[in-house]
Amino acid sequence: MKIAFIGLGNMGGGMAANLVKAGHAVNAFDLSADALARAQENGCATFTSVREAVDGVDAVVSMLPNGKIVDSVFENDVLGHAPKGAILLDCSTIDVDTARKVTADAVAAGYDMVDAPVSGGIAAANGGTLTFMVGGTDTAFARAEPILSAMGKAVIHAGGSGAGQAAKICNNMLLGASMIATCETFAMAEKLGLDLQTFYDISSKASGQNWSMTSYCPVPGVGPTSPADNDYQGGFATALMLKDLKLAMEAAQSVNADVPMGARAAELYAQFDADGKGGLDFSAIIKTLS
Ligand code: NAD
Repeated sequence: MKIAFIGLGNMGGGMAANLVKAGHAVNAFDLSADALARAQENGCATFTSVREAVDGVDAVVSMLPNGKIVDSVFENDVLGHAPKGAILLDCSTIDVDTARKVTADAVAAGYDMVDAPVSGGIAAANGGTLTFMVGGTDTAFARAEPILSAMGKAVIHAGGSGAGQAAKICNNMLLGASMIATCETFAMAEKLGLDLQTFYDISSKASGQNWSMTSYCPVPGVGPTSPADNDYQGGFATALMLKDLKLAMEAAQSVNADVPMGARAAELYAQFDADGKGGLDFSAIIKTLS
């Protein structure tokens, strides 16, 4: 297949390289010359505009920073410029309403489109082990699935247009709240005189068990290796968690959902980010809980 890939940053760079490894011809475009140079090293053909990159392709994949940019790239340079019948896949994390709007416009212009945000960070993007949550019609999903499979370990059809984004922000709202709950629990356990490894051994086999504890423990030296063991460098940046929590709060408001724990997590991450910690892994919030 010939696939245009728009947005070759931390995530998109590795994803485009995996499409090349799977035997696809990849047309790459990014505003950053560095990102384009890396894409070229990884076997992509590079272009100087979106319109040139989407010319004659079978599919267009985007991995961009936010909904405003996704909307403008698709409206101005993809719809009406990619061949009619190309399948369009936006893998960025954006708000549900914009995802639905862009897909509706794409469908009106004669394309199938899915929203397909990912779970998994830069290592999973490089390693081809992302999880994709996909929103779109059965037909669009069936067309998108083989392309996404080349970049991930799981591709799940979440429902109609926007359902991928809805699943992503619901998941990450739970993750943000559960990480803070895990952090405060370990901080209190320490104050109560518990040995933290012993508490981990108990709670990881008891009803407090959760992913933030057993796959990503915020305490250095406890549980499997995690960003906590690397002074909270790498991993999933606080700024990105905050972005997802803000999207979750917008979505909650739009459907009048009661989300007291998600809202508190959003406040705490906003404060941590405002304190200049946006570049640290999101588990570093444990440092603020004494
Ligand atoms: P990034 O900033 O590293 O990459 C975005 C790329 O888009 C940049 O290279 C930028 O130059 C390019 N870009 C911006 N505007 C453009 C335009 N108009 N045309 C072409 N290229 C343009 O960000 P990232 O970490 O790769 O994240 C991309 C998306 O993936 C975001 O929506 C993010 O929320 C989501 N995401 C990131 C992670 C993560 O761990 N980094 C995990 C899951 C989801």
